[in-house]
Amino acid sequence: MLNGQDKSKLNHHTANGFRNPSPEFKKNNLFDALRWSVWERITGKKPEHPENYDFPVVDNDGKFLRGNKTEYTVTWVGHSTLLVQMEGINILTDPIWSERGSPFKFAGPKRYAPPGIDFDDLPEIDLVIISHNHYDHLDKATIKRLGNKPFYLVPLGIGGFLRDIGITHFEELDWWDSIKFNSLEITCTPAQHFSGRTPFDQNKTLWASWVVKGQGSNFYFGGDSGYFPGYKEIGKKFGPFDLVALPIGAYMPRWFMAQVHLSPKDALQAYIDLQGKKFIAIHWGTFDLADEPLNNPPEVLKKEIENRKWNSDNFWLLAHGETRIIKPANDLAEGTEEEL
Ligand code: ZN
Ligand code: ZN
Repeated sequence: MLNGQDKSKLNHHTANGFRNPSPEFKKNNLFDALRWSVWERITGKKPEHPENYDFPVVDNDGKFLRGNKTEYTVTWVGHSTLLVQMEGINILTDPIWSERGSPFKFAGPKRYAPPGIDFDDLPEIDLVIISHNHYDHLDKATIKRLGNKPFYLVPLGIGGFLRDIGITHFEELDWWDSIKFNSLEITCTPAQHFSGRTPFDQNKTLWASWVVKGQGSNFYFGGDSGYFPGYKEIGKKFGPFDLVALPIGAYMPRWFMAQVHLSPKDALQAYIDLQGKKFIAIHWGTFDLADEPLNNPPEVLKKEIENRKWNSDNFWLLAHGETRIIKPANDLAEGTEEEL
């Protein structure tokens, strides 16, 4: 492993876990959680959500993806699950094929759209990248199904979870640590969020975003995060990015969510800070986790882009299962965009 930075500068470690180092960060306490999850519901402050949404799902049989060894592509499976194909390497981010983002089969947030590609239609997965251990990002059933064949990259503290389900082919990374995987160099980068799967393991494992750097292409995966100064730092160190994947959903109410979840508007600022070229919206349209209905974040994002008179071609709100080519293969082989 390559050590990205002087460890003494890292102040996100605590005696028994991790914290968000930004001086402005204020952690929600139990009272805040109750006010949101109980009081605002009883008092009718939580808006009614539709029973269903007709989100389009592309019929993706995976044939192109299984044959593809050259094109740099991204496919939105749903929520924060992306299949990224870069330099012949197949990468999954925060894979969840389960019906619910929950510890239970019968309760907890259920899917409003099926996974955009059937699990069995996937190409062989080489690398799995995990942002943090919340149920909608670290799904036990899906990881068991993927098994020990792929190589897993996880933030510090998640190794025990993997070992418990028989996964040994992994590396735990701290923020700013990098690791090589074939032609790629992958760096664990900060995010402003939190972790925990039970009331007893809050912030005991680290949360992160990830930078994937290939020979002629790169990619930023945002995981879950509130807006924070880290975006500028990551952009300065690793930008510009061909593609940035940023969360736009589960952002309301702002008094409770702003510190730990980007709004669509925040995500556009993060895209600027990161020096993104193409933007793909994640963490929306799949699991209902917050006060806004699932069709709100993409609408708000579109309006924000319109207001700025930005070119909407650079901002991707994909249908579940949709694949886009990020850069044509010959572009990557030449290594120069100027010639085209
Ligand atoms: Zn989360
Ligand atoms: Zn999440």
